[in-house]
Amino acid sequence: MRILLAFPRGFCAGVNMAIETLEEALRRLPPPIYVYHEIVHNRWVVSEFTRRGVIFVDDLNEVPRGATLLYSAHGVSPEIRRRAEELQLRTVDATCPLVTKVHREVIRFAEQGFTVLLVGHAGHDEIVGTMGEAPHAIRLIENEEQADTVTVPDSQKVAYSTQTTLSVDDAERIVSRLRARFSALHGPARDDICYATQNRQEAVRVLAAEADLFLVVGSQNSSNSRRLAEIAAASGIPAYLVDGPHELHEDWFHPDQTVGITAGASAPESLVQGCVAYLRERFDAIVEERVLREENVHFSLPIELRDARRAARES
Ligand code: SF4
Repeated sequence: MRILLAFPRGFCAGVNMAIETLEEALRRLPPPIYVYHEIVHNRWVVSEFTRRGVIFVDDLNEVPRGATLLYSAHGVSPEIRRRAEELQLRTVDATCPLVTKVHREVIRFAEQGFTVLLVGHAGHDEIVGTMGEAPHAIRLIENEEQADTVTVPDSQKVAYSTQTTLSVDDAERIVSRLRARFSALHGPARDDICYATQNRQEAVRVLAAEADLFLVVGSQNSSNSRRLAEIAAASGIPAYLVDGPHELHEDWFHPDQTVGITAGASAPESLVQGCVAYLRERFDAIVEERVLREENVHFSLPIELRDARRAARES
């Protein structure tokens, strides 16, 4: 068996920053630490932090007045920030800067009187947060059919933005339908689909052409991980989205296969290595890492924690 290990894979700069933020909060701030929604969409990461005393909530009514609350990498709506202020919470914002960029974009379009067609998945934490910035001006577009039928008050004042973790190809299809309908359609100056999503999708697309089967390490509620599995499957091979080696089934594999492996942006490398070890032990697999692109993106910790860290160093 041959394993083609995709690179880039796994943690992106936004996930690294969010996890490091929570680590710093655990080190420097009084417990318990509350987090609004999952810090990143990965079961293993969330259960590890839960074991260490972090409390994840989906409703601010579960957070006591004056407590410490982290906003996850996916961002929150202004309504959540307002409610947190009312509850006098000490907040730390671990929103990925690339999500914040989309928030700013939709605010700017809405202030200029545009209707914003936001391409994304209903109910995803990121979309809920972004829509909350200008609910009166945003229409959610989930598929090509909705792109074909959406109505707007003024066809000369229409813009689009997208969720950061969409399939590049799906998003392009939807946006081209919108362009065909609205000739004056405005868009973001730079892609909203983030570098990490694009790079991981590109690597899967290239390697799937050589593989007999693809494993994507990631959780079912991770949008970018699901897209990776869909892209691999679209090339006509079996593709499995698994949380880790414990979900692998021996009868999926044959000793003479080429198996592609990648990981979504929120999946830890230890779980990837667990899958590699599983195939090595059972099928004597050899590993080839394929580097499709280098990544050198890094985001700083939120200002609230940089200050706490500096104060601790100086004391
Ligand atoms: S996937 Fe992209 S937008 Fe989401 S946290 Fe990572 S870098 Fe940020």
